[in-house]
Amino acid sequence: MSDVRVRLAPSPTGPPHLGTAYTALFNLAFARKHGGRMVLRIEDTDRRRSRREYEDRLIEALRWLGLEWDEGPDVGGNFGPYRQSERMEIYQKHAQQLVDAGQAYYCYCTPERLDALRSEQKRQKQKLGYDGHCRDLGSDAAGRDQPRDSPYVIRMKVPAQGTMVINDSLRGEIEFDFANLDDQVILKSDGFPTYHLAVVVDDHLMDITHVIRGEDWINSSPKHWLLYRYFGWEPPEHTHLPLLLNPDGSKMSKRRNPTSVEYYRKAGYWGPALRNYLGLMNCASPGEEEKFSFAEMVEQFSIGRIRLGGAIFDLQKLDWLNGRYLREDMAPESLLQGMKKWLLNDDYLSRIVPLMQPRMDTFGDFMVRCAFFFARQVTFEAQDLVPKKRTPEEVVQVLQTVLWSLEELDSWERNLVESAIRRVAEFWGWPIRDITSPLFTAVMGQRVGPPLYESTALLGIDLTRARLLQAIEALGGISKKKAAKLEKEWNSSRR
Ligand code: GLU
Repeated sequence: MSDVRVRLAPSPTGPPHLGTAYTALFNLAFARKHGGRMVLRIEDTDRRRSRREYEDRLIEALRWLGLEWDEGPDVGGNFGPYRQSERMEIYQKHAQQLVDAGQAYYCYCTPERLDALRSEQKRQKQKLGYDGHCRDLGSDAAGRDQPRDSPYVIRMKVPAQGTMVINDSLRGEIEFDFANLDDQVILKSDGFPTYHLAVVVDDHLMDITHVIRGEDWINSSPKHWLLYRYFGWEPPEHTHLPLLLNPDGSKMSKRRNPTSVEYYRKAGYWGPALRNYLGLMNCASPGEEEKFSFAEMVEQFSIGRIRLGGAIFDLQKLDWLNGRYLREDMAPESLLQGMKKWLLNDDYLSRIVPLMQPRMDTFGDFMVRCAFFFARQVTFEAQDLVPKKRTPEEVVQVLQTVLWSLEELDSWERNLVESAIRRVAEFWGWPIRDITSPLFTAVMGQRVGPPLYESTALLGIDLTRARLLQAIEALGGISKKKAAKLEKEWNSSRR
């Protein structure tokens, strides 16, 4: 294969996700195997949710894993700009081209009309979706060629009948009925493209030869292939990777297991070991050595080796593999350097020392009392989570609401953490100490310790979430149904 070009196209709308790292690794292994190039393209067209901070954190997380790319917003290249928000004119021009060719149209439907349409479709138990109201406005010429004065979006025309067959290198041909596809919005009223237009235009203009992405994008593919057809372009080869799953086969989500790469870094895993572990997903054959370097992975890599059926992400196995790296690959000196880079450094310690100082009689008290700042997990007795006169069932629900309340925070500062926890006390009508007491145990594994709000802020959301989930489990967990009901109550109390 010559001139292979792949891309990683993350949307910077949240913390760096393991799924993104896994997709990056497989793209990179494929590119290196074929002497090709990997592009990092930031898909930041969702203006409300995209943040530069998330882009920076993703880049840092990928580098920590030891992944490198050849073109991107940080390293440049001949196909830039590599941030979609800097390519607006390109998308607008292409959307206009489709309108001019009668393959897309201006749609003036207001959000109110679309809401009413949706409610009506729901009431009548019909398929939800756009009804084509503005589709033929263009027949009076003025409508299609000249946008009117009122706000509009541009929608692509999807044929009413027929099918679109897409090709996936792992699954072969997949057929989709046009009747099940909507006239997708391709340009929003603020002039920003939607993902569907931007991804097709950029994959084409950036000469991408192979699209390797998560299988949750399969259902979007027919829209993309239709756009390729409208533009008269050849689609790249597509491979949809099986998603990462929890050991019980459910889709991996942060509600169950840590999904942020930053969690693994802070919990003390080593980047190349986590990369190796991600490389095992769907690719390991029984009896084969499971510990391998990136160069060895590239050597062995082929799309054909990827197995369908889900990639189980098993924390225990990751621990085992990470342990092998620490024991087999690191001389004591490099282990020490690794730990310094991790958290045993002035930056982190200097934030902990002021919290510990009032609680120390000797230097030696430090380590003993604040080990929880470094530990991957803490240990406790489940009964220590339950204050007097409260039941485990109540505490489970309280911890769950604490988690939601903390997750709403934009940044992790002491005062924000405090107000998030106070909101929970108000919600339950409990004195604050009945909320903070289980939290001491859950977060620190001890009933007393340094100040809770400062400590939680310093630990960060990832470790705190993992510990709260662990405590919830220790008390017997919460059923999906109960959680959904509670979440509703919690959300309505917040309005
Ligand atoms: N921006 C999409 C995402 O966040 C990219 C999907 C794709 O690779 O086409 O995952």
